[in-house]
Amino acid sequence: MQKTKKLEMKRFLSLLICLVIFLAGTVQAQTALSDFEPASDTLLQQKDTLWVSFRGAPGGSAVFQISGGKEFPMAEAPDRPGSYTGAVQLSAFPILDQAEVTFHLRTGGGETTGKAPGKISVIPDASVLVGSTTRNDAILRGGPGEDFIRLAHLPSSVRLRIIGKTGQWYKVFLAGDRAGFLHQDGCRPAPSGVWPSRPVLSMIRATAEKNRIRIRITLGERGAYLVRQTLDPPALVLELPGCTSSLFETVYDIKDAYVRQIQVDQPDSDLTRVYVTLSRHVPGGYSLSYENNDLLLDIRPSLNDQGYRTLKGVRIVLDPGHGGSDSGAVGVYGTREKDMNLDTARELRRLLLKAGASVVMTRENDADVTSPQATAREELEARVNIGKKNEGQLFISIHHNAMASIREARRARGTFVYFYHPQSGDLAREIVTHLAPAIGEPRFTIINRSFAVIRQTYMPAVLVEVAFISNPVEELKLRRGDYRKKVAQGILKGIQALFRY
Ligand SMILES: [Zn+2]
Repeated sequence: MQKTKKLEMKRFLSLLICLVIFLAGTVQAQTALSDFEPASDTLLQQKDTLWVSFRGAPGGSAVFQISGGKEFPMAEAPDRPGSYTGAVQLSAFPILDQAEVTFHLRTGGGETTGKAPGKISVIPDASVLVGSTTRNDAILRGGPGEDFIRLAHLPSSVRLRIIGKTGQWYKVFLAGDRAGFLHQDGCRPAPSGVWPSRPVLSMIRATAEKNRIRIRITLGERGAYLVRQTLDPPALVLELPGCTSSLFETVYDIKDAYVRQIQVDQPDSDLTRVYVTLSRHVPGGYSLSYENNDLLLDIRPSLNDQGYRTLKGVRIVLDPGHGGSDSGAVGVYGTREKDMNLDTARELRRLLLKAGASVVMTRENDADVTSPQATAREELEARVNIGKKNEGQLFISIHHNAMASIREARRARGTFVYFYHPQSGDLAREIVTHLAPAIGEPRFTIINRSFAVIRQTYMPAVLVEVAFISNPVEELKLRRGDYRKKVAQGILKGIQALFRY
């Protein structure tokens, strides 16, 4: 008996110690709050909802206040312990101007308080804010940040209604319940009283020009445009927010029926759509621009639809990645990506010229395309511009891959071909399926991704990552001259396969 009692006492003591340690632990875990939303100053409409959040010790109870007023409850996200969220309708408040959001987290260890870095302001119901794009190529995005999807590239002097602001990003009204975001670098608030752009579509004319069909849409005023491409049937759909249609006539000044039909509808008081349906293949590229107040949609038929049956006479732009001040990836044996890219491109040029194509290289030797001081963006833009200026019909950027982490880098393998526009998908697929077997690579993939060189080009464009230079086994293989010859052969076969379509 005695023994058992002693044992129980010991157990009790150790439990007590555990409890003390546990409580001390909770007190210590009472760390400062972090990851606040709103992270930056935010402008909202009075009808909007304000969403707030922070991170702190799990298992507590949290509230938030606006300008030190009433406390609103918050909830801990069930799937993310320590992450607390809350929301409130702004219509319940008077007009807020630079209001602070404070948070309180109460746990067994006491209360921790934090303040969101972003302050809240509300646009009064009666005021109308309008922003005007201040430069060409202002990028309209799906969210307030560089990572969000591109909805459109807008020209200068397009005026859109501002319905909010998050940090440096204006939220602008498009149509219906759709909005987009413009960085303040490309958008400036207009004086009060200025109207948003209100284009009126009055005339459409399709004309055949050398290597392209031009569709001229007369709008009377510049407005925003969004474009969507469908593969089946091959079509381009233009959405013109803020635009109304008083279409008088559509003129087809073209002999053949490549542009099968142009239809216009206005599903909403603030949106007009133009459907351009094509009769044959997905086009080889398209571009949109304004000439005064006419929106020009230039469509370039695919190589097949232009009558090409072989590479003879096709203008191909080859872009050996990196160069000069930029070595690209470097293998453990010192192989530099820029040298492999250039050597492969030279070999491919030789094969293409033999097949009757004409070739433009973005760089001929180990040099920067712009200058060693240029930014990465300027360097990539210069490569795109060489392709555009020379009216290239295909654009092929050549790279060798690498992984940043040492462990992954040594194991990584595979041939990857990237494309962005739908018209480049076939080229990507043909190149990868011919290139990978040519170099004995069992792993090959095509990836749809937004790289500048394959996005801004008005022609089918791909970026080829031949093999991993960061993998020592692969690196030794690609140092051999005959390997690069096989690579060039594989890419050539892939390009030639396009003419089977
Ligand atoms: Zn590269």
